[in-house]
Amino acid sequence: MKSLWRMLEKKKKENGAHSIHLPDSLQDIHRDVIVIGAGMAGVLIAYYLKEQGKSVLILEADEPASGQTQGTTAKITSQHGLKYSTLIQGVGKRKARLYAQANEEAIAEFERLIRDKKIDCQFERVPAFLYTLQNKEALEKEAQAAAELGIDAYFTCETELLFPVEGAVCFRNQAQFSPLDFLKEISAELEIVEHAKVTKIRGNRVVTKRGILSADAIVVATHYPLLNVPGFYFLRQHQERSYMLALSGCRRLKGMYYGIDKNGRTLRQAGDYLLFGGNARRTGENENGGVYEQLLVAARQYFPECRELTRWSAQDCMPHDGIPFIGRYSVFTPNLYVATGFQKWGMTSSMIAALLLRDEICGIENPYEKLFSPRRLNFRASFGNLLRDVGISAKGLYKGAFHKSEKRGEYHRRSKRCAHMGCELTWNPDEQSWDCPCHGSRFAADGRLLDNPAKKGLAKKE
Ligand SMILES: Cc1cc2nc3c(=O)[nH]c(=O)nc-3n(C[C@H](O)[C@H](O)[C@H](O)COP(=O)(O)OP(=O)(O)OC[C@H]3O[C@@H](n4cnc5c(N)ncnc54)[C@H](O)[C@@H]3O)c2cc1C
Repeated sequence: MKSLWRMLEKKKKENGAHSIHLPDSLQDIHRDVIVIGAGMAGVLIAYYLKEQGKSVLILEADEPASGQTQGTTAKITSQHGLKYSTLIQGVGKRKARLYAQANEEAIAEFERLIRDKKIDCQFERVPAFLYTLQNKEALEKEAQAAAELGIDAYFTCETELLFPVEGAVCFRNQAQFSPLDFLKEISAELEIVEHAKVTKIRGNRVVTKRGILSADAIVVATHYPLLNVPGFYFLRQHQERSYMLALSGCRRLKGMYYGIDKNGRTLRQAGDYLLFGGNARRTGENENGGVYEQLLVAARQYFPECRELTRWSAQDCMPHDGIPFIGRYSVFTPNLYVATGFQKWGMTSSMIAALLLRDEICGIENPYEKLFSPRRLNFRASFGNLLRDVGISAKGLYKGAFHKSEKRGEYHRRSKRCAHMGCELTWNPDEQSWDCPCHGSRFAADGRLLDNPAKKGLAKKE
């Protein structure tokens, strides 16, 4: 199931540029910086470091943008759901203001870069709306919080949507684009080695099957961080999966929309198509299936004439305190950096990561370093989510262990254990995949690894 961006890209590929390939052996290659992962984050990080004169190499396990970036809705916004009322309550006004500023600056930097480099990626400034069918109060609060933090936002009950809303918050002057068109152009002059999966990092050395490379600084931009220890990111975030449709024959929308209610939808226009998504849930919690059909029924309620072009899903890391992790991987690894926890807002988060890591690696002061630092402790904002995640992981691990002792039973034939930490996997009928509710790894029906943090597929006996 291909995303809209992949389908459109395929049509153009015949005349498209490709990333630079190095010789098969990577042994003893040294660069100032090695970036692991060529998604939106990895490519932008490499781009800005190269601009500073660093020699940079990207190692990509598959092909550029073959991870979650190909499944994004690609709204470039500082509007991240009910973000600002939640942040003010959880981490205070000062940090919430910094978060808003960092994201607003990221939008502006996308615009500058795209304009200066004349990148044809359908970038356009459009308003972004949160909407509700039932919780007007929450949106009034969010509008007030956003305005207090200096965002150009207002509350309204009027939208162009075909259904009446109880309320909406409009952030003016946000943006949207075509992410793969953007990445293709921005990566044209970068050194990207495809099919070079990193299996280990040891000090300043990076291990792949094609050789061991070294760098003064290494950046992990693999969506879910590559190493369990140090860093312990598997204790600090979980993964959530969302489902998308690209529809034709719908009335065109001028703005971007995001519903805050349970089963709220995300909508935006992408050329002739309408992106219509939702049904977000923790990865591993779609055992009943039927989510695409539910989406289609909902879409037809509002756009009876619509036709489905394609459907797909993707997932993202949800940090406990609602703030991405960008900075030094851990206190024990001075030359290792990370960018993760984008909570389904990875366009601006990737840009923030690129500017912040550029500054950290080049020794330049950056006002957002502490806010995004993986070493921060936002106990009040994290505690509830931490407890919930620990509970879910403990249950998954317990079931996985039980599975091990029941090798001969019916139970064994119907279940599998994750190659990451041994949690019990659940079957996702919509994706025909085995998904892990603990940390979000995914495997194809034949056991092939689909999504991190597991590093390998399922053993045959599983
Ligand atoms: C349904 C959905 C809709 C979304 N919509 C939006 C939106 O509208 N706006 C927004 O801002 N954000 C959105 N997001 C979030 C955004 O898409 C992601 O946060 C972002 O694409 C993540 O980029 P990334 O570079 O971190 O990860 P990825 O794109 O996953 O890139 C990581 C790369 O690392 C590679 N890799 C992994 N392991 C290794 C290894 N061991 N060695 C080498 N390479 C490796 C992978 O192959 C992959 O190419 C959405 C997310 C979802 C799920």
